[in-house]
Amino acid sequence: MPDNAALFAVNRAPSRVCRPCPLHRAVLPSLVHPPLSEPFALNVAAPPPPAPAAPGPCRICGAALQAERQLFDDRYGYPDRYGLYRCAGCGHRALNLQMTPAQVSELYTRFYPRSSFDVEAWQPPREEPAWRTWWQGLRASAFRWVPPGVKVLDVGCGFGESLGYHRNRGCQVQGVEADANILRVAERHGLDVKVGLFDAANYAPASFDVVTLDQVIEHVADPLVVLRGVCQVLKPGGMLVLSTPNANGLGAWLFGRLWIHWHTPYHVQFFSTASMRQALGQAGLHVESVRTVTNSAWLGFQWCHLVAPGGPGVPSAFWSTQMPRNTGQKLLLGLAAVAGRLGLNALLTRLADALGRGDNFVFVIRKTTP
Ligand SMILES: [Zn+2]
Repeated sequence: MPDNAALFAVNRAPSRVCRPCPLHRAVLPSLVHPPLSEPFALNVAAPPPPAPAAPGPCRICGAALQAERQLFDDRYGYPDRYGLYRCAGCGHRALNLQMTPAQVSELYTRFYPRSSFDVEAWQPPREEPAWRTWWQGLRASAFRWVPPGVKVLDVGCGFGESLGYHRNRGCQVQGVEADANILRVAERHGLDVKVGLFDAANYAPASFDVVTLDQVIEHVADPLVVLRGVCQVLKPGGMLVLSTPNANGLGAWLFGRLWIHWHTPYHVQFFSTASMRQALGQAGLHVESVRTVTNSAWLGFQWCHLVAPGGPGVPSAFWSTQMPRNTGQKLLLGLAAVAGRLGLNALLTRLADALGRGDNFVFVIRKTTP
C-alpha cells in the first residue's frame, strides 16, 4: 500500500483517509486463484508491536468504554493482539490501538502493499441493471448513490474507479487518497485527485453537492474531524453518503472473532446507528436515512476466511499468496466459489439486509446548517 502511509497515523493525525479494506476497490483475492503479487506481508522483520494504551472515554459521547473482546490481524499477519471496547452510552466500538507513525507506516507498506495495481486494467464500474444491483447488494458502495450531473468529492477514492464512474455520468468529480499509487492512475486516466489526507482547508467552503466516504470512516482515528470537514465543504442541503461495517449485524454475531470486517488493526472505529447520529449531529450533519446494504461477494470472502484464517503474526492462506494452501482448504475454497455462483451469498445477504442486520451500513446524510 501507500509509500506515504505515515499519513495514516492512528490516534495522532486528525484523520486517515484510506481504503485498504478489500471489500470494494482494493485488489481482491480471487476465490480460486490468488492474484495478489509479491511481496506481500511476509519475509519481513516484525516491527515492535504497538504499545498498549489505556482506553479513554468514548470519542463520540464521552461515556465509559467496556472491554468486549481481543482481536488480531487474521489476514496479513501483523503481530500482537488488540482490545476491542464498546461504549456503554452510544454503542460505539473502538479498537484500543496506539501506533507511532513508524509503526503505521510499517503496517500499511509492509503488510498491505497495493503497488502492484495494473493501471492499464483500470476500469470504472458500469451501471448495472436494477435487479442485479439489488441482488448483488451493489449499493453497498457509496458511489452508486450519487446522482448524475453533480459536483462530487470522493474522500478515500482508492484507485479512482468511482471517479471514472461519476465522470461518465456527467459529474464534476474530485478525489482524495492517501495511497500515492493513485497518482499513476490519475495521470494515465486524467483524474483530479489530491494525494494525502482529506483536509477541508484544501477546498472552497460549501462547494460540493455530494461527498462520499466509502469504507473510510472505520479507518479514521478521529472521525469527528473528518465529518466536520465534510460539513464544511458541502453546500447547504448537500448530501454525504457514508458506508461502514455494521458490527451489530448478523455476521458479527454469527462469526464472532472471525468476522472479516473486524479487519484488525486497519479498522479502528465501529459505529452503531446511535453513535453515527451523535457524531453527525456534532458535525452539523443530519441522518436522512440509514439501512444495511451488503455486497454479496463479501459473504463469499467470509467463507474463504473461515477456511483459512491467520493467527497473530501468521498470515492467512486465503488472503496471502505466500502461505501454502492444503488440500482441504483448496477443496473448501472451491466449494465456496461454487456456492457463490449458485447465488447462496446473494440470497443470504438479501435476507440479512431485509432484517436490517446486514454487514454494511449505508447512511444518507444531509447538511442542514447554512
Ligand atoms: Zn459513546
